[in-house]
This record gives sequence, structure tokens and C-alpha cells, in this order.
Amino acid sequence: MVTFVVEHLDPELGPWSALEYKTIARESSEAGCDFILSSVPTSLLQSKELNDVGASARSDAVEVYFAHQKDRICLLDPAAKQELQPSDTQHFDVLLFGGILGDDPPRDRTSELRKKGFAGRRLGPVQMTTDTAVRVTRKVMLEGKKLEEIPYIDFPELKFAEHESTEMPFRYVTDTEGNPIMPEGMIELIKADADKGFDTLDF
Ligand code: SAH
Repeated sequence: MVTFVVEHLDPELGPWSALEYKTIARESSEAGCDFILSSVPTSLLQSKELNDVGASARSDAVEVYFAHQKDRICLLDPAAKQELQPSDTQHFDVLLFGGILGDDPPRDRTSELRKKGFAGRRLGPVQMTTDTAVRVTRKVMLEGKKLEEIPYIDFPELKFAEHESTEMPFRYVTDTEGNPIMPEGMIELIKADADKGFDTLDF
């Protein structure tokens, strides 16, 4: 049994993160695996936004509540030397992700977790959203898929209207029609943000 953990690294819970976490919570429960959102500020624990996410949330950090299993924790890290592979199920029970909104160019905030000394694995050279990174990791760890067997698209262009589009600076898993898989409600949110002006578009 593997547990997926997202360490929330921001003081707030923005609408983008909330949609990503909600998707991770739903897909984890469909796949029958545990999902924990941790390092959540206590001020957020009782909030409506967090309640809507529907995840098990706690305020302590993963190395505290999994202290007895620290060597079985794997940080999914875009800067790791080794790629995640199906045989890693023998080494790890806890898959750890940074709950950070992607940024372009990436600011390497995953380093906040890396410096705690976890083992690390990469999911290819391109930055993914957190829900995509969890989706890919599930396919490798639960379905035994190799990274190169998982269909993806880099930097998809989302078209809202004839002259309105925006390029997402991330890698996404694709569905059977080749479209990027994104959290429900995300396209509407991106469009609303784009309408406010590109200067304020903040991933
Ligand atoms: N801009 C970033 C990446 C945020 S993506 C940064 O500052 O580090 C959010 C999380 O998804 C990362 O912390 C990592 O756990 C996971 N992730 C995203 N892309 C990945 C990749 N190519 N390999 C491994 N993990 C990845």
C-alpha cells in the first residue's frame, strides 16, 4: 500500500492549488490509495476552501509523522538524478510532492523538501503540475508503467476564443484523444485569470 503525500508549502490555499488537491484526493480514492495533505497552516485546517478539497489534512510535516519510515519516503524531484521506475515499489511506500504552484521559469522550491534529505526520483526533464506529477507516479507505482509508456504533451496551447489563447508552461498526461488532463474547473479558472490580464497570470 503506497501513500501519496503533498506538502503544502504556501501560507495560503489559492484556487489553483485547491483544484489540483481536489483532483488528487478524488483520483487517489478511486485508485484505493491514501492521500495526505500535510504542513497545512493551522489557520487553514478548519477553512471552507480546505474542507471543499476533501483530503485528509494535517499541520505537521511528513518527516514527523512518518519518522519511523523516513528511508521509505521518495521525494518526486525535478532535479533528482534517477528517474522513477516500476521497481521502485520495492524501495518506497511514501511518495512525496511539493504543493507548490508551478512557476515559469521554475524557482526550484522543491529544494525546501530536498534539503531535508529524502531519497529523490525524477519524472522526466519537464516541469509538471502537482496533480500531473501524482498522476504519473500512480501509473508507475500502481500500474507498473514505465515513464516512456505514459502519453504526454508539453506546453499545450489552450484556446478560449478565436483570438484568445494561452500556453501552459508544463507537461501534462494526455487522454485517449490526445488532450491534456487537467483538474475539473481549471480551464475556466485560467480563462478568468487571462481575462484579468496576462500580467497578473500567476501559476
Ligand atoms: N516550480 C517548481 C516545481 C513545482 S511542481 C519548483 O519550484 O520546484 C510541483 C511538484 O510536482 C514538485 O515539487 C515535484 O514534487 C513534482 N514534480 C513536477 N515536475 C516534476 C518532474 N519533472 N520530476 C519530478 N517531480 C516533479
